[in-house]
Formats: sequence, C-alpha cells, structure tokens
Amino acid sequence: MTEISTKTLSLEEVRELARSVLVAAGVEARGSAVLADIVTRSERDGPRSHGLRMLPVYVQSFTSGYANPAASPKVERIAPGVLRGDGDNGYYQLAAGAARDELIAMAHENGIASFTCANCHHLAALRFDTEPLAEAGLVALGVVNSLSMVVPQGGVRPVFGTNPMSFACPREGAEPVVWDQASSMVALMDIRMAAAEGHDLPRPAGLAPDGQPTADPNEILETRSLLPFGEHKGAAIAFLIEVLGAALAGGTLSVDNAKRVEHGALNIKGGSTLIAIDPARFGNPGFDDYVKRICAEIEGNGAARVPGDGRLRNRATAQQQGVVVSTELLSQLHDLQ
Ligand code: NDP
Repeated sequence: MTEISTKTLSLEEVRELARSVLVAAGVEARGSAVLADIVTRSERDGPRSHGLRMLPVYVQSFTSGYANPAASPKVERIAPGVLRGDGDNGYYQLAAGAARDELIAMAHENGIASFTCANCHHLAALRFDTEPLAEAGLVALGVVNSLSMVVPQGGVRPVFGTNPMSFACPREGAEPVVWDQASSMVALMDIRMAAAEGHDLPRPAGLAPDGQPTADPNEILETRSLLPFGEHKGAAIAFLIEVLGAALAGGTLSVDNAKRVEHGALNIKGGSTLIAIDPARFGNPGFDDYVKRICAEIEGNGAARVPGDGRLRNRATAQQQGVVVSTELLSQLHDLQ
C-alpha cells in the first residue's frame, strides 16, 4: 500500500470546500448547498468514496454541459399514491428535496406512496434518500439505475448499472435503521478509490482483460465489467432496480450510454423510485416492537451488527474529530475553486 499524506478537516470545512468548488463550477446557490450537504454527510457517515472524492465528477458533469447547474425540478401528483418528478437535468437530490413534504403527507394519507424521478443525475449514496423518510416515521425503499457495468450471471457484457438500493425504517428510541448497497459486489467509486490509493480490493469484484475474476482495481477499470453480488441473486436484484428505476420513472436504461460518452461523464441519467410506507396505516400496532426484536436478535449475536449502523459510529467520530483527507485530493479540489 502506498503511504499518503493527509490533513484533518472539520465537517464545516468539508461543507465550505464542497460548496465553493460547486459554485466555481457555475452551480447556483441552492444546488450548491444541497450537493455540498450530501458530500458532507458522506464524509461524515460514509461511504467516503461518495464524498469529497466525488466532487471532480460533479464538476465534470456541469462543465461539460451534461448536467444543468441551474436546475429547477418539477414535481406532480399524477395518482393518489404517485408523485412524479422531472429533475430538469439536474441532480436528483434537488427534486427529492422538493418532493419530500408531499411524499410524506401522501404516505400518511394513503398508507403507501411513491416518488419517481427522471431527467436527473445521481452520484451519491442512497442512504441519504431514505433516511429522512425514516426520521419522519416511515419505512422507505429507494432505488436508482446507473450506467451499465454489471455483467449478468453467465453473460459476457455489462447490462445493469451498479444499481444501488436503500432501505430505512424507524427504530423506536434510537436512530432509524438505514442501509444501502450496490448491486455490484463492490461500488464503482470504491474501485476508483482503491486504484487512486494504490491497493487491491478485498476480493475479486470484476473481470480482468483475460475474462478472469480479479481484485486489481486497474484491471477492472480497464474492462468496466463488474461482478454482481451473490452471483445470479445479485443480478436479479439489479434487474428489479432497472425496472423500478429506469422503466417506472422513464429514466435512461443503464445500457444507453451514448449521451454520457458524448460528454465524457461518469454517470448516466438513470431513473429513480422512492417508496414510502406509513407503518401506522398497515394495521399492526406492534410494528415498533417487531423492529426492536429483530435488531435485538442481531445485536450481541456473535460479531453481527444491524445493517447500516456503521454510519452512526462514523458520524460520532467525524463530529468529534473531523475527517482525514489526502493532501493530493485537497490540492486537486483547490485547483477547482
Ligand atoms: P457496502 O458493501 O460498503 O455496504 C452495504 C451496506 O451494508 C451499508 O449500509 C453498510 O453500512 C452495511 N454493512 C457493511 N458491512 C456490514 C456488516 N458487517 N454488517 C452489517 N452491515 C454492514 O456498500 P456498497 O459497496 O454496495 O455501496 C457503496 C455505496 O455506493 C452505497 O452507499 C450506495 O448507495 C452507493 N452507490 C451509489 C450509486 C449511484 O448511482 N448513486 C451506484 C452504486 C452505489 P455500514 O457499514 O455503515 O453499517
């Protein structure tokens, strides 16, 4: 592993750095604040691969004309439980922020409601899409399809994106349970980060040029062919996300990369679906006790932990001690200001 030089930043310094980089890329004030907040949350809670390191990718998307730096998303209720968004070619988080209060109100009203969004970009961890809904007392499921890099079981070329999903639910007396994961064995940004930091991945996660599984991030970046998690089962989840994300929302299919390539961008304008469920409307008054019981069966069970709780530990440490950032990345970001 290569030795790297680092500097510690407070979370406020992270936010200000992110905001100023985005403003310098021409992003209007509200969009800069929303994206800087997402970057800061990622540095705070993880995954750090989607924090400051993602800023050059955001900047590239704006400066190449691929994403709209002054997006003004539209949200429309088209059925009792269906909220449909058009991201105006900006980032998803702006549209989701505009939809959130109405989605929560619709879930309370109907028991279940959904928000789909097309014509938008997504480069962040999905945990930040579902967590606010669980904080409002709802169960949430979010999916986004992304550019094709995942090879279906037995296939020879990528069909699915790294297609992430997130689940969140309230946990009485504690922070919500929130987890998110890619459909690939390893997220693309973690592969890029391992390549930048000069080390192998913990396990083979993609195909080498000779078609064999490899843990070398540079070989995987060369073939752009990732393995799904759990073999055919992960590929089936990626299929589900392609349908719930792209097909339902009317976003770009993961295989339709022409526009992205034209702009030299990393992501595609996939689609997203966020489903919000009010457990109080589902007829089981014991819902909270069930969640507590499930968590209790996991905690203290050998080395097991409730999925996603690692973010709470990261959060406590980052709030107290700040975050350690490589000076090479900082100098790259200062050049973008
Ligand atoms: P990981 O495999 O790192 O983690 C998946 C989930 O499992 C996390 O919620 C993690 O939370 C939890 N977890 C990890 N280890 C354990 C454990 N031992 N016990 C219990 N829970 C555990 O995630 P991925 O590499 O699959 O994805 C990384 C990120 O990339 C995700 O945040 C995803 O949303 C994002 N992504 C975004 C894309 C986009 O297009 N915007 C595309 C693909 C991915 P914790 O460790 O905090 O407990």
